Amino acid sequence: MLTLEKAVEILRDSAEPVQDKERIPLIEASGRVLAEDITAPMDQPPFPRSPLDGYAVRGEDTLSASRECPVTLEVIGKIYAGEVFHGKVEKGQCVRLMTGAPIPEGADTVIRQEDTDYGEARKANPVRIFRGSEPWKNYCYAGEDYKKGDILLRAGTVLNGDRIGIAAGSGDDMVTVYREPRISVISTGDEVISPGEPIRPGKIYDSNRYLLAGRLGDLGLGEINSSHCPDRIGDMCERIREAAKTSDLIITTGGVSVGEKDIMHGVMEELGAEKLFWKISLKPGSPTLAFTIERKKTGSFSGSDRIPVICLTGNPYGVAVNFELLVRPVMEKITGNSAWLCPKRLCLLENDSPKRGGIRRFMRGSFTEGRVRILTGSHASGTLSSMADCSCLVEIGEGSSGKAGEEVWTYIL
Ligand code: AMP
Ligand code: MG
Repeated sequence: MLTLEKAVEILRDSAEPVQDKERIPLIEASGRVLAEDITAPMDQPPFPRSPLDGYAVRGEDTLSASRECPVTLEVIGKIYAGEVFHGKVEKGQCVRLMTGAPIPEGADTVIRQEDTDYGEARKANPVRIFRGSEPWKNYCYAGEDYKKGDILLRAGTVLNGDRIGIAAGSGDDMVTVYREPRISVISTGDEVISPGEPIRPGKIYDSNRYLLAGRLGDLGLGEINSSHCPDRIGDMCERIREAAKTSDLIITTGGVSVGEKDIMHGVMEELGAEKLFWKISLKPGSPTLAFTIERKKTGSFSGSDRIPVICLTGNPYGVAVNFELLVRPVMEKITGNSAWLCPKRLCLLENDSPKRGGIRRFMRGSFTEGRVRILTGSHASGTLSSMADCSCLVEIGEGSSGKAGEEVWTYIL
């Protein structure tokens, strides 16, 4: 049977990164991927500016200053941040200024106001300076941060708050990013009804569609197209063809085993799809089926010509595990955003696994600083309630003892 790693490789090869670009407000761009370089339109700061509240002076005028023997300078003006002093500071003169104000021509340093007697810009009231400053100290150069023409952020960068702050320096309140991937989730099963509907004998509520849409949302996807389809091959084919028109990836749940109502094999055939694989060597969620279908282009949506369809088991825990292990790496390929990858660490197992031996297993666990505990609730693949306290998946490999004290791979959720 196919290894998990091989299945991931095949799926990633079948998916294409989103190429379409869109302009969005910069302030809403956290988590989005830049589609074009951002270049500085000017120096930052654009002018030499004061890092202090104080007096802009010619440093050499002040070098001899001390508390006993202050230097006295004529205050020829006063400016706040945002204002400009239009004169020049000559020998024996200074300008009172506040942090962020442009340092006037002629001045080459700023004296801290605490090192003066706070003299103001009146002829009769010059300022006395008690401590001098070397030229070019306390002086923020124009372009100290970056120069006009510098590339501030490169295409492909994932935007976060800090990077959005940098991008704001471009002066543009809009930014060009790759459009968000469009993911369609379709759950199947004649026994499955949607939350909100009254329960009926023999029916269960649809956990899978909600779980998948929720996880995609957790990881930053804004809009998810999800629906439920009965176990009818024709209906499901129609649903997939329709979803494919505007999706980069389709995920289905249920109907991939060998029962009479396991329709997904028939769906694959009727769609004329190209099969990628069926069954992966892992528990839970081994009967995963994957294929690609041709995508008819419509309207303004331009995506790749073929898209992958990942058909997961109906068992909710199998869906949860397959999402973390299979879907996330595909999403990373589609978005170019490594935040989609599930972080993986070796941790010390604190308790014995209730299931071990045989096929590679992924158990629900709780993780703290390099140590991991397998949860004590139900581990059956059809049960979901113990996921409420699950913070990681614990891998019990094929050859592993599954005993406390062993080092195990832990996938942090
Ligand atoms: P299947 O893979 O379709 O054979 O389904 C396996 C098990 O998962 C069955 O017990 C289904 O009733 C259950 N199941 C299938 N789909 C869902 C769903 N969307 N939500 C909750 N349970 C489901
Ligand atoms: Mg089913």
